[in-house]
Amino acid sequence: MIKSPIPYGHQCIDQSDVDAVVEALQSDWLTQGPAVERFEQSMAKYCGAEHAVAICNATAALHLACRALEVGPGDVVWTSPNTFVASANCALYCGASVDFVDIEPDTFNMSPELLATKLESAAKQGRLPKVVIPVHFGGQPCRMDEISALAKRYGFRVVEDASHAVGADYHGSKIGSCSHSDIAVFSFHPVKIMTTGEGGMAMTNDPELARRLRLFRSHGITRDPKYMEDETEGGWYYQQIELGFNYRMTDIQAALGASQLTKVNQFVARRRQLARQYDAAFRGMLLQPARLADGCNSAFHLYVIRVAIEKISHTRREVYDRLREAGIGVNVHYIPVHTQPYYRRLGFKRNDFPNAVHYYEGAISLPMFYGLTDEQQQFIVGAVAEALQ
Ligand SMILES: *Cc1c(COP(=O)(O)O)cnc(C)c1O
Repeated sequence: MIKSPIPYGHQCIDQSDVDAVVEALQSDWLTQGPAVERFEQSMAKYCGAEHAVAICNATAALHLACRALEVGPGDVVWTSPNTFVASANCALYCGASVDFVDIEPDTFNMSPELLATKLESAAKQGRLPKVVIPVHFGGQPCRMDEISALAKRYGFRVVEDASHAVGADYHGSKIGSCSHSDIAVFSFHPVKIMTTGEGGMAMTNDPELARRLRLFRSHGITRDPKYMEDETEGGWYYQQIELGFNYRMTDIQAALGASQLTKVNQFVARRRQLARQYDAAFRGMLLQPARLADGCNSAFHLYVIRVAIEKISHTRREVYDRLREAGIGVNVHYIPVHTQPYYRRLGFKRNDFPNAVHYYEGAISLPMFYGLTDEQQQFIVGAVAEALQ
């Protein structure tokens, strides 16, 4: 029997995760403590990065990444329109403005060619971005070698929104190693590759950025006399030297995260297998899965298809509704950020980024998660074939 509805994503929690959380609950720490530090160290080791800073969620981590890079009023931050709103909002939190770079029509990631063109004209107008935030959409790494070459040439900083990409590799190195960026941010929301309930992590190889991320994570307060503006007054003494936040992760969450991390390769391997099976089953159908670019090994947070709505007699909405009626919890990623009412009020027009809009108009995300069975997947493939008829 097929259990219905099949969600598009679902966490995988086993007894060892439960045990790890219970152990944290029975320890002396509940808020940020030794479990957070252990989780940070394992994550840094897993990714091959120097520093990992655990943060209460990826939205806050993106905000801190922008603060650490001193994004402020008068600055411009560029990201992809094909993303969750958080990738763009982080710049607005800092008082900066946002612009977008359109996607490639086949990988659905930010196009390095369009980035190069946009940089060329921005340089002429003296409006170069301070930070560019490429998003590894669905878990597929962006073409980071080209993006980082442009960063060197034009002098901007790079923050990877790697919310979808824990466990993805780019030319043999793990996403999160920051070999082509200043900071990379992960999300541990339950629907992502691994979870802490709510949670995020910022990776960096720069000790000064790591220090600033930690400082802003906890109110802008330091207890290190080296960074104080006056003499310390005693063992109790701390100073607030920046306007920070309370963006800490709890030890309860970190215990879950560390336990999940031990299984992440297994999670990603199954997702890759499911993706290959979808690819094979869909060959010849009137839909387009994401093309995987050279050297990009996706972690497959999402399996998205673009339905060839130009060639079938149904709208995307009809295909979506038919799949929902069949008990398949399909979703759509993403409504282009610049078309959201809030962003329209900032002056963006629907056709400013036509590739993102064209992709969106046929986009459907199919179920993709560790616990999805082959039997469920075959049922989904059959339902997709039928919905396109
Ligand atoms: C999920 C997600 C975020 C936000 O993550 P939270 O941990 O829920 O704050 C940011 N960017 C992208 C691309 C995401 O998918």
